[in-house]
Amino acid sequence: MKLYSTNNKDHQVSFQEALFRGLPPDNGLYMPTAIPELPSSFFEKLPGLSFQEIALEVTSALLSEEVPVEVLKSICDDAFDFEVPLVEVSPKVYALELFHGPTHAFKDFGARFMARIMGYFLEKSGEQIHILVATSGDTGSAVAQGFLGVKNIKVSILYPSGKVSPLQEKQLTTAGQNISALEVEGTFDDCQAMVKQAFLDQELSKKCGLSSANSINIARLIPQSLYYFWAYGQLQKQGLPVNFCVPSGNFGNLTGGLLAKKMGLPIKHFIAATNVNDIVPQYLENGQYEPRPSIATISNAMDVGAPSNFARMQALFGDSWEEMKAEISGYAFDDDTTQEVMVRIQKECDYPLDPHGAVGYLAIADFLQDKNEIGVFLETAHPAKFHEVVKATTGLQPVIPPKLEALLELPKESRLTPPTFEALKAYLVE
Ligand SMILES: *Cc1c(COP(=O)(O)O)cnc(C)c1O
Repeated sequence: MKLYSTNNKDHQVSFQEALFRGLPPDNGLYMPTAIPELPSSFFEKLPGLSFQEIALEVTSALLSEEVPVEVLKSICDDAFDFEVPLVEVSPKVYALELFHGPTHAFKDFGARFMARIMGYFLEKSGEQIHILVATSGDTGSAVAQGFLGVKNIKVSILYPSGKVSPLQEKQLTTAGQNISALEVEGTFDDCQAMVKQAFLDQELSKKCGLSSANSINIARLIPQSLYYFWAYGQLQKQGLPVNFCVPSGNFGNLTGGLLAKKMGLPIKHFIAATNVNDIVPQYLENGQYEPRPSIATISNAMDVGAPSNFARMQALFGDSWEEMKAEISGYAFDDDTTQEVMVRIQKECDYPLDPHGAVGYLAIADFLQDKNEIGVFLETAHPAKFHEVVKATTGLQPVIPPKLEALLELPKESRLTPPTFEALKAYLVE
């Protein structure tokens, strides 16, 4: 697979280069120059395939020129070794539960796949890298778990002391092995500034093989297309059109779905669901793309004012607003409406929505109305990850999954670090 930069079609790189660079030097985003269509034989056998078999077929079609199929097979088998249930919440409305991985949010798919594919290339070249991540909570834990035990990669996570939830802190500080946590005596902004400065220091960066695990890495996007095939395969026998609704922030998850459709999956329509940070729904309505500072909400993983994958969405529609509008409908909901539906669905359907999934449910229910069609909304996080909001809203404490519960008992291991670049540098050199 060759990739180009959305800022310069002539800048083309291999998958390996895009993987390790993360971003093109011109600050565009990497996109495949061509997206292969999968053969009809694949779609015929889709309902009988396991998630891992689907993952292998799809990733092979994209990457087999650079990664041998048997390597892709072991990467897919290992990265996607958890369940991905599709649950009918109300008639014809399904939750695709993407939260059964180690950190209980959908970002596990991207992080685990990217880590293993990086591990493959590093083993081949004999190089080692050191990944630095600044986190305010969730991204850090997906990266920590994703890279855990991957050879030739060391990961250091910087988080602001006292400013992440107790559960998040345990997720960051108990992994062990190749994962270290720096507990920074400052804010998230300090953590981010320290990491940024380390990358800017070219001598240090080179000496330590510094690399990032950027959320817009192309290797995180590819695995986010897989579960659309998986869900579709299970619904195919009903013979009804299938629509997908994606609770969105940076729109990586929705872009994964667009990729699946380009590869031939006959998805009828996409619904982009947001909280009051409705930059994309606004664009879909009036053609004006107006990023603005984000507003804090209860579905905080979607509090994004300048969605980083928007350029990729535009590229997939040849920069045409009309074409994007024809395939994606936008919906936005405020916190009150989100909480109302969490209460109602708990009561009527006995299904605990997390605040992100709740936004998705609202949008797909509104979109479907009396249509004789199927709607799938992506449930992006386990309700227990947002147990404070869920409890305050529904009065019910979500069941904490045993794996998360067990973490609370483990001893925290972190290195207390002053909020300065010098402190980070001293750590890295050592
Ligand atoms: C990251 C995240 C989202 C938003 O996904 P994007 O790909 O950024 O649109 C939604 N829900 C949860 C729980 C997330 O962690």
